[in-house]
Formats: sequence, C-alpha cells, structure tokens
Amino acid sequence: MVKTLRFKGDAMKMLCPCKSQKPYEECCKSYHYGMNPPNALLLMRSRYSAYALALADYIIKTTHPSHPEHTKKLWDWREDILHFSQETEFIDLEILDFYHQDATAFVTFTASLKQQGKDASFTEKSCFEKIENMWLYKSAEFL
Ligand SMILES: [Zn+2]
Repeated sequence: MVKTLRFKGDAMKMLCPCKSQKPYEECCKSYHYGMNPPNALLLMRSRYSAYALALADYIIKTTHPSHPEHTKKLWDWREDILHFSQETEFIDLEILDFYHQDATAFVTFTASLKQQGKDASFTEKSCFEKIENMWLYKSAEFL
C-alpha cells in the first residue's frame, strides 16, 4: 500500500523528457494530451519528449503537411517513429537559438542521443509554420 502510494508520487514527479527540469505534468504532458503549444519552441520541446516517450501520433499530428514524411504510408511512418524511439536514448536537449515571426519560427538545437551505445547526437535548425493556430514542424537543416 505504502509502496504503491510512493510509486504514484514518483510517477507524478517524473521529470519531463524534454530536459526542462520541470515535472512532465507541468511541462509537455498537456500538449501531448491535446493542448496546442503556444509557440514553436514549446512545440519543438514537446516533439523531443514525444520521441522519448514513443508518442508517434503526436509526432505525426505536429508535422507540417508539406513535409516529405507525409508521403509515407501512415503505418510505415508510425513504425519508423516507434523504432527510432525504441532504439534511441534521449540524453539531453540544448536550445541554441529561437527566432519567430507571426507564423514562422526557427529553433536551433542540439539533441544528444545514443543509439546502440554510440553517439547519435546532432544539431539542427528546424523551421516551423503556424497553420490555423497550430505550430507545425516544417523542415530541418542539419548544421
Ligand atoms: Zn517538456
């Protein structure tokens, strides 16, 4: 009984996988459960944590319709995301730059990742576009 309670407490205090140092409950969770992130930076963070939590549908939902991934069959795309999530350790996320206008935004970040024990980190400048009040991940430039 006591153990169960303590476990629940720990689960609620789980730090968000986007590395904000905030509890998941107070960070990306509301976005994963349907709220629109108010800016592209929060969307970017919530996509990182969605990858870490293998929330493939969230990744798909927040990808811009013009992104090449949309040409894949939905089933294959989901499988690719889940495979990536399972194969990857999400070690850190560092935001290097954030620039936004009304409906366009750029986030430059370094994602520290490991795959099969090897470093798979990368630095990317992501482009986002707001469509019907929802920020979407549009394209990326690897730096
Ligand atoms: Zn978060």
